[in-house]
Amino acid sequence: MSPTVTVIFICSKCSAGYQATQKERPEKVSGSFNCEVCQTKIYAWSGLYAYFDWQAVEIIPKPGRETPPSGRFR
Ligand SMILES: [Zn+2]
Repeated sequence: MSPTVTVIFICSKCSAGYQATQKERPEKVSGSFNCEVCQTKIYAWSGLYAYFDWQAVEIIPKPGRETPPSGRFR
């Protein structure tokens, strides 16, 4: 049995978070997942890895910080 991997995706439009299970398949598969909130296509796959068990997850920023610092690596 090939291992499964949990992958987190964030909607680029509304920032909704989703987790999916990634699993290697013996033959090529393709599919896609659209955001349940704004219907933006979050991810499309084609190949030996299938993504299933999509669940909405809350992406909670760390308390005490409204937004992560940006631009500090320049
Ligand atoms: Zn969305």
